[in-house]
Amino acid sequence: MGCFDTLVVFCIFCNAENYEQTKSGPCMLDYYRWDQPDLPTWMMQEFNGCEVQCSECDRTFRIVYDYEVVVKDRRLEAVNNLDYLELKDKEKNG
Ligand SMILES: [Zn+2]
Repeated sequence: MGCFDTLVVFCIFCNAENYEQTKSGPCMLDYYRWDQPDLPTWMMQEFNGCEVQCSECDRTFRIVYDYEVVVKDRRLEAVNNLDYLELKDKEKNG
């Protein structure tokens, strides 16, 4: 069944909207902004460390939620895109 919740995250390079889907959690077909203050904890657990490849510019970044009981920090950080592009090149060229 196509039942999922969606995390909306904005690319740190080009600011395009990206959508990450999860089947864990309540699956209410809800949309959550990655930085909304009341983002559920299960959503943070699900997406902490998650790498997102931007659908617009193809570059990759990582969602980081730094929390123990409460969120202390949340940020997006760039993944080493050179490695990633090299990998794509290898895939292309065999
Ligand atoms: Zn982008």
